[in-house]
Amino acid sequence: MIQLHDKIFKPFISSGELDETVSNMVQEVTKDLAGEIPVFVAILNGSFMFASDFLKKYPSNCEISFLKLASYEGTSSTLKVKQLVGLNTSLKNRTVVVLEDIVDTGNTIVEIADLLANEGAKDIKIASLFYKPEVYSKDLTIDYIGMSIPNKFIVGYGLDYDELGRNLPEVYQFYKQTDK
Ligand code: 5GP
Ligand code: MG
Repeated sequence: MIQLHDKIFKPFISSGELDETVSNMVQEVTKDLAGEIPVFVAILNGSFMFASDFLKKYPSNCEISFLKLASYEGTSSTLKVKQLVGLNTSLKNRTVVVLEDIVDTGNTIVEIADLLANEGAKDIKIASLFYKPEVYSKDLTIDYIGMSIPNKFIVGYGLDYDELGRNLPEVYQFYKQTDK
């Protein structure tokens, strides 16, 4: 068990299982994209560890770019406008594979896919390490899923609880609240 802030988490997925999961995803993507030089787009912050391990295993030529989804106030004070920041490569006519840590309701990945669609890519595929099928409510296809997991909050391997836990090499699941 580990404690982060006011919550206790229990071990859920070992680093060995994560390694195997990432290897399987790499194999699938490699097979589908044979003969192409894809641009991987990793979504910060959560996917930094997944993206790093994925890239180390990727056996062919590829590029990577890191993106962050930021929201800022629009002209109307209540309107939040979402924007992708950090894209430093042209995606025009490229095959793009988004590397995301986790898809929950799908709100985030749908926003990202919509914003990327305006960059002129030839093809956009989505790869998510974790996926919560009980909560996902969108039509967008998640092309590559590492692991489907129950609707419980997880941390580790890049994923945080209020910024703590990203450094853990394995994944933990919410267990209980502390008495504090
Ligand atoms: P969605 O927009 O699909 O509901 O949520 C996606 C985002 O919410 C993820 O990129 C991640 O930042 C956060 N998120 C969703 N589920 C979890 C979870 O179980 N653990 C952590 N640490 N973050 C989560
Ligand atoms: Mg994320």
